[in-house]
Amino acid sequence: MHTETRLSDAEFIRYSRSLMLGETAEARQLRLKQARVLVLGLGGLGCPVATTLVSAGVGALTLIDGDNVELSNLPRQQLYQTSDIGKPKAEVAAARLRQHNPHPQLQEVQGRPDEQRLRELAADCDVLVDCSDNLPTRLQLNRLARETGKPLFAGAVSGTSAQLYLLNQYSACYQCLVDPDWQVLQNCRSLGVDPALVTLTAQQLVWLLLQYLQTGPTDASDAVPFGQANSVPFGPANPIPFGQANPVPFGHYGRFAASGNHIGFHWYPLHANPGCACCGTAQQGAV
Ligand SMILES: [Zn+2]
Repeated sequence: MHTETRLSDAEFIRYSRSLMLGETAEARQLRLKQARVLVLGLGGLGCPVATTLVSAGVGALTLIDGDNVELSNLPRQQLYQTSDIGKPKAEVAAARLRQHNPHPQLQEVQGRPDEQRLRELAADCDVLVDCSDNLPTRLQLNRLARETGKPLFAGAVSGTSAQLYLLNQYSACYQCLVDPDWQVLQNCRSLGVDPALVTLTAQQLVWLLLQYLQTGPTDASDAVPFGQANSVPFGPANPIPFGQANPVPFGHYGRFAASGNHIGFHWYPLHANPGCACCGTAQQGAV
């Protein structure tokens, strides 16, 4: 969290349409300016997530990716151009985002930081966003989110399916959902991917993230209470109570579906695994 206490004149003009959105709009815009977000993965999800965060006025981003731009990335990853093929994604993305909005502080991390370095980067941010495409990285960031107490917004798209996970230290964690023997996560390299679905998923994720950053933690639990999370089947018949004190339903996952008269994400509670090696009671007792 930065200590900025005001918006500059240039920022007032740039964000003027957002500042029309109600009496608290200026305070919410200032909260965005005060926030630092870590985005791990600058591929199909990370590109639109980072672009929208920078466009909206988040004050600082840590952008991490170890890959170089490939030709097959270009249908989905719109921060990159044909002439960028072979260049490091983090470097290209940061340069293009700075051209778009010079106000946010961008820290690009090229390569794959080791555990200690990633822990330090995570601890320095307010929120972690998992836009990666492989299971070991997901589990690592999930573990570091637990260690540092940072909320984790995670997205995953492969083939024609998409999921979002909203996790914090009071909810189930990502590892609760994963079979410990499951070492291979199918991703877009093996299943292909729908370009528009990736963008749609990223925008749903970043909308929730911006809601969170603008309202901030509301109380100590900062989560839909566990009993509620375990008993309320959020979905078309029971929409999430957006716009209330805490609009982000931590402890839930969203699954994209297009059927009947509903196209979008259906939300379901996540159930913590007491035996989870990351957040389970055995692990907590061992600490
Ligand atoms: Zn867990």
